Amino acid sequence: MKNIVILGSTGSIGTQTIDILDSIDANVCAISVNTNIERAEQQARLLQPSLVAVYDAEKASELKIRLADTGIRVVSGMEGLIEAATLPEADVIVTAVVGMVGLLPTLAAIDAGKDIALANKETLVCAGQIVMKRAREKGVAILPVDSEHSAIFQCLQGAAGNGISRILLTASGGPFFGMSREQMRHVTKEQALHHPNWSMGAKITIDSASMMNKGLELIEAMWLYDVEPDDIDIVVHRESIVHSAVEFTDGSVIAQMGNPDMRLPIQYALTYPARVPCKVPPLDLPRRHNLTFFAPDEEAFPALGLARRAAAARGNLGAVMNGANEAAVDLFLHDQIPFYRIPELVREAMDTVDYLPEITVEDVLESDRAARDIVHSLVK
Ligand code: NDP
Ligand code: MG
Repeated sequence: MKNIVILGSTGSIGTQTIDILDSIDANVCAISVNTNIERAEQQARLLQPSLVAVYDAEKASELKIRLADTGIRVVSGMEGLIEAATLPEADVIVTAVVGMVGLLPTLAAIDAGKDIALANKETLVCAGQIVMKRAREKGVAILPVDSEHSAIFQCLQGAAGNGISRILLTASGGPFFGMSREQMRHVTKEQALHHPNWSMGAKITIDSASMMNKGLELIEAMWLYDVEPDDIDIVVHRESIVHSAVEFTDGSVIAQMGNPDMRLPIQYALTYPARVPCKVPPLDLPRRHNLTFFAPDEEAFPALGLARRAAAARGNLGAVMNGANEAAVDLFLHDQIPFYRIPELVREAMDTVDYLPEITVEDVLESDRAARDIVHSLVK
């Protein structure tokens, strides 16, 4: 029986992780949320973890009262998140918080020798070099939850140690596939939040609409699989059935397929190397007779070029790009800026914050802060 911690248990990945618990042999020993204590209370009563971390201090105090009859401990803030991530009895930490707030708990979990089931891609985008190096030093596994990265990981199980020549990173193209940059000047928040294939949290849904999500995933793949960004091709695949593919030196391509449902990659990260029956309905390939593939339109989706630039530069540029994007997406979700401004603001932050080729965790936090400040000052 594996003891798992779910950071971000109330979100899209968090709730889907809970949904597959009865398919895997796991016990949840801690959960964490930001503010949603109603959901956290239900989850705590159901799962009986020993600890609940609530980032918001006031909400944590409220939850403490609500759970007073249970003996479940409630902690708060970044300290609380780190306590959950390093709980002595935990084997695996599912990092399903959204945003770079996941960085410090992930590093603390690695330092404590915990394996990571990583959904929180922002952590690798900001500090991939630091996270991967620490994981290697500590001998902990970083098991990908993101569907594309799980696909690549699964393709490599058939590689018998042969290296990757090229990664084909598939992208649905999002709700604005086929639109020009000009047409995207007039899209609404409701349109941007309506993803054709996946139901996910708001931030990643907006990232999918701008294709920044694929940019973040390019950097995530670069760090996870130690490949050059030029060896990663982005392929638009509207049906989201082929979740990504790996090309080997002889030109052979191995792809992983399945219905677009995150419960499968989440489950595989938690049962690897074993495969066990999954709740996701099996793929009915004859019904999916139309699998299509396109090159992405980098002119219409400038986020892709920005991410390639950050990937090639490494250093603090990933943290700058990510921080600016988090700030811009938040402003868009609060109706403060139109959709097309998101990549423009990210570019302005990337052009302004001083570039650092070598980084520490402090540099990452500082670059993130600087990028957010620039975005906010440009919008004022
Ligand atoms: P959601 O917005 O649905 O959920 C985010 C979770 O993180 C919630 O539990 C939320 O708590 C918690 N949280 C938010 N802010 C903080 C904070 N400051 N401190 C502590 N906890 C916080 O996000 P998703 O589940 O969609 O995404 C989570 C991560 O997984 C992201 O990095 C995303 O890119 C990645 N991912 C998601 C996929 C998906 O299908 N959803 C697919 C692949 C990757 P509360 O409910 O209290 O706000
Ligand atoms: Mg993905």
